[in-house]
Amino acid sequence: MNLVDIVSKHVLLQQSRKALKGRCPFHKDETTSLMVNPSSNVFKCFGCGIEGGPIEFLMALEGKSRNEIIAKLANKNFPKEKASV
Ligand SMILES: [Zn+2]
Repeated sequence: MNLVDIVSKHVLLQQSRKALKGRCPFHKDETTSLMVNPSSNVFKCFGCGIEGGPIEFLMALEGKSRNEIIAKLANKNFPKEKASV
């Protein structure tokens, strides 16, 4: 799971020296406090302090539990329902 792909759907990311940065969607960000590190697949906001990987980003964004996010991602990867039409 590529964190940069997920974050870039919600946040306009700019290339900075060794990471990507953008406006944090989790607090009122006037600057670009959200840093995304593509090589370690983690993010951190220097404004509100939230950090983690792809699951943590989606949990915070959608306000869901870890299990809900994992189930949702599993459904997206294996769309069983659509095959049974
Ligand atoms: Zn933040």
